[in-house]
Amino acid sequence: MSRTKISHWLVIVSLLTMSGVALGASAPPRDATAHMERVGDGVYAIFHDDATDEWPHSNTGVIVGDDGVFVIDSTYLPSRARADIVLIREMTKKPVKYLISTHWHMDHNNGAIAYREAFPGLTVINERESAKFLELNQVFWSKLSTAEGSAKRKSLADLEKQFTTGKDGDGKAVSETDKKELAKHIAQRKNELVELAQLEVVTPNLLFDRDLRLQFGHKRIELHNWGRGNSPDDVTIYLPDDKILFTGDLVVQSPLPYTLASWPVGWIPILKDLEAIPADVIIPGHGPLMHDKSYIVTVRHLLEAATSRVEAMVRQGRTLDQIQSTVDLSDVRREFTPWVTAPDADWAAVTKELVERSWRGVRGQG
Ligand SMILES: [Zn+2]
Repeated sequence: MSRTKISHWLVIVSLLTMSGVALGASAPPRDATAHMERVGDGVYAIFHDDATDEWPHSNTGVIVGDDGVFVIDSTYLPSRARADIVLIREMTKKPVKYLISTHWHMDHNNGAIAYREAFPGLTVINERESAKFLELNQVFWSKLSTAEGSAKRKSLADLEKQFTTGKDGDGKAVSETDKKELAKHIAQRKNELVELAQLEVVTPNLLFDRDLRLQFGHKRIELHNWGRGNSPDDVTIYLPDDKILFTGDLVVQSPLPYTLASWPVGWIPILKDLEAIPADVIIPGHGPLMHDKSYIVTVRHLLEAATSRVEAMVRQGRTLDQIQSTVDLSDVRREFTPWVTAPDADWAAVTKELVERSWRGVRGQG
């Protein structure tokens, strides 16, 4: 379905430029499940452990302006976002003035309510289409997850049974180490259900379509919506004077890319454009800080291989099942060692989905 979009709509928003308090020289803070890294002058990224054994937290970007803070992505759970606010306050006493979600996926925005509660004057920015998906999916996901007898409640009950009986789903004894992991996962999932049951959706109060350029004190911040790539509308945040790029999930190294419900055909030229941005520091949606474009190039190779090989088989009249069982992407896997050492089951899941999405994309069906 085609969507109406105002192309190249440019908004210049001038923000206050009062000089603020200089940052302290102390090392960026950390807590039990996250650490902050300085990625430039007054620019930080927060890297988190996973929320549960099923859900990650997004990375979070922190840009300290002259009289306020601009935050990128608020993680999967409000409790994590509240802990991030503690980390941010250790670096600066300036209030968070802006929060943006790079796309609608909930591991990037469920935590928004924590910022709204802590900073009542907060401006929440969203790309216009994502804002709709974000609101609907937060409501859907929290109700689906917390309903009586939900799949999430059943799988939690299954984990609890494994813990109390000391036997896994196949009846095999659970080791003491695995039992400790089980206890951790059970506690995380119980907390997840409590937080999802209370989840409050935060409605954005500044929408944009294609581009939004902010003069945030002495910092220039450029937001750009690339359209269909990893999600229907992926927004990057670029600081041209600092040469720092926050990519959202257009770039994910965890260690594999995230391909579920993606648009590989449109994603390829987006990655080429990202490669052309003169960024010295890249903060992906998930995964470690990057200082060059090599990983982006490798992800592009994977998408190019998938789409071109799928197209060749479509031309032979093969079915999706045949294509999924035949396409071999192991040569591209070998381009990046963490992909090689990732579990085979994870690689298989990511590439099976990538092939399916490519199969739709090359035929103009998604
Ligand atoms: Zn994500």
